[in-house]
Amino acid sequence: MAKIICGKTHSAAIRGEVAARIKTDGIKAKLAVVLVGDNPASIVYINMKKKACEEVGLDFELKKLPESATQAEVLALIDEINNDAEITGVLVQQPFPPQLNKDEILSRLDPRKDVDCLNPHNVGLAATGQGKLLPCTPAGCIELLKREGIEICGKNSVIVGRSEIVGKPLALMLLAENATVTICHSRTKNLAEECRRADILVAALGRPKFITADMVKPNAIIIDVGVNRLEGKKICGDVDYDACEKTASHITPVPGGVGPMTVATLMENCVKAWEIQRG
Ligand code: NDP
Repeated sequence: MAKIICGKTHSAAIRGEVAARIKTDGIKAKLAVVLVGDNPASIVYINMKKKACEEVGLDFELKKLPESATQAEVLALIDEINNDAEITGVLVQQPFPPQLNKDEILSRLDPRKDVDCLNPHNVGLAATGQGKLLPCTPAGCIELLKREGIEICGKNSVIVGRSEIVGKPLALMLLAENATVTICHSRTKNLAEECRRADILVAALGRPKFITADMVKPNAIIIDVGVNRLEGKKICGDVDYDACEKTASHITPVPGGVGPMTVATLMENCVKAWEIQRG
């Protein structure tokens, strides 16, 4: 039976550290979240972020626009946030409605306030190892491994999924930790074989229970980033947990694994953004 990597516990520890720091240093920081439309999953994620902000002592503000918002309206809101000295962190909740140009919106974010590393300037810094604000979910995965005392250096790491927000940045971060990294995607040939090579297997593809036990090397470490809603609103990951926990040495549950770490890293980034703006 694999050891369960409890993201909830590690997340609580990090949030405790952030809360103590905010109190001791008298940090006055505020996170603004931009939501266009009312995607129910986005609202759930935003409420989790709001709750975490309240717990650690950060101010929070939701900036909402209707589903029909134009590109100009979204950009005007971003400009307003960029120019608001009280707001020290911003993130725009995705997905966007189809009429919006995502790249232009993300490029407009003030890089010093960009707490989920979405602006291409910060993406470039992160890619070259110079980033201070790293993307929350990949940074949370790395932190989870480190806090569990898992050695990353030299490990064969296979990531299934190459998105801009998870797969790609995580690959670079694992590389920076001296792992040997393979990125798989929908066109990968012999996916199961690639996965079986993994000492650290990360599933970030958004397909419920896609990774089955036969794709897992004995004693592999499994990080399940996926969040999939099944019928009846039950949530499951991209890994067939019940089957894979018998093969793996460590495994993250869903919920309670990577998700809480994303929120904890966001809290850390809010403090870092405040520091960056203070010079
Ligand atoms: P995207 O949809 O942006 O990317 C999915 C990736 O998986 C793509 O690269 C795609 O390949 C690949 N993929 C899809 N199907 C297959 C397949 N059958 N075989 C191999 N590769 C495949 O997803 P995200 O990265 O945004 O999210 C991934 C999952 O992680 C989702 O479940 C999401 O909800 C979850 N998530 C969880 C977070 C958390 O905090 N826990 C935060 C962010 C995301 P290709 O590029 O070829 O299309």
